[in-house]
Amino acid sequence: MNLLTSPRVVKEIIEKYNFRFSKSLGQNFLIDRNIVEKIVEGAGITPEDRVLEIGPGIGTLTQELIARGGQVVAVEIDRNLLPILEETLAYPANLTIVHGDILKIDLDKLVNEFFKGQDFKVVANLPYYITTPIIMRFLEEELPFSTLTVMIQKEVAQRMVAQPATKEYGALSLAIQYYTKPRIVCSVSSSVFMPKPKVDSMVIALDRRDSPPVQVEDRDMLFQVIRSAFAKRRKTLLNNLASGVLKEWDRDRVVEVLEAAQVDPQRRGETLSIGEFANIANNILHLQ
Ligand code: SAM
Repeated sequence: MNLLTSPRVVKEIIEKYNFRFSKSLGQNFLIDRNIVEKIVEGAGITPEDRVLEIGPGIGTLTQELIARGGQVVAVEIDRNLLPILEETLAYPANLTIVHGDILKIDLDKLVNEFFKGQDFKVVANLPYYITTPIIMRFLEEELPFSTLTVMIQKEVAQRMVAQPATKEYGALSLAIQYYTKPRIVCSVSSSVFMPKPKVDSMVIALDRRDSPPVQVEDRDMLFQVIRSAFAKRRKTLLNNLASGVLKEWDRDRVVEVLEAAQVDPQRRGETLSIGEFANIANNILHLQ
């Protein structure tokens, strides 16, 4: 089997199939074995695992995933890559390639069909502009994944793991940390891709929590409060809530909610912990 991390092999395949890289599909293929191994190790793949890979490309990561012995289902949007994958991976028994768009596919049906409702691990190296929507889809639809390991733009990874009172901390940090425990697996230089992207990347693993870190009576309310609190970063919490989720309320009542939650109305959203946001969300429901 040819190692797909060899730039020479990748060039040969591209030429043989007259393949043209699509910028809009974020087609930057990995050509570094070390990074491929780090991703698969970060995801903790064992032969007992069921794995959903998104965007196999020419099969570089897939090759390592199937070698580790897990059962792999890989969803690829680009039809032009299907004959290439057939050659590079030779379709062993533990691999299924599905042609489709991960943003549109019926994920419930897919995981029931292939994984029989059992938990699975997600591994993906995707176009950066769709990575966050995909992650949020997996989290919000409560699909039974145990770990989601993805290559993302460095700045986005830093926002996902950020703690209060840092400039990276925001609504994305809180959404990710509500559903998962994120950990940075490694930093990735742009030189490990063909063609080379303009940005630096990181691999991040999101380990799903068994239960959320805070108890809220209404999860939607929690996220509405969070989104409002970060709407204008330089405004106080009071001003952001009064012009956001609580815009129908008198200002005095907004102050009352914050005081009941023991949060100073003059603070900024970026200083609040997830526990404080949960207190505010619960008090809004009580004072409504
Ligand atoms: N996994 C390969 C690697 O690491 O070398 C390829 C990674 S490349 C950055 C992204 C891959 O995702 C491409 O093969 C692209 O065609 C595919 N892709 C892009 N959008 C997709 C979508 N919505 N659904 C499924 N695959 C998608």
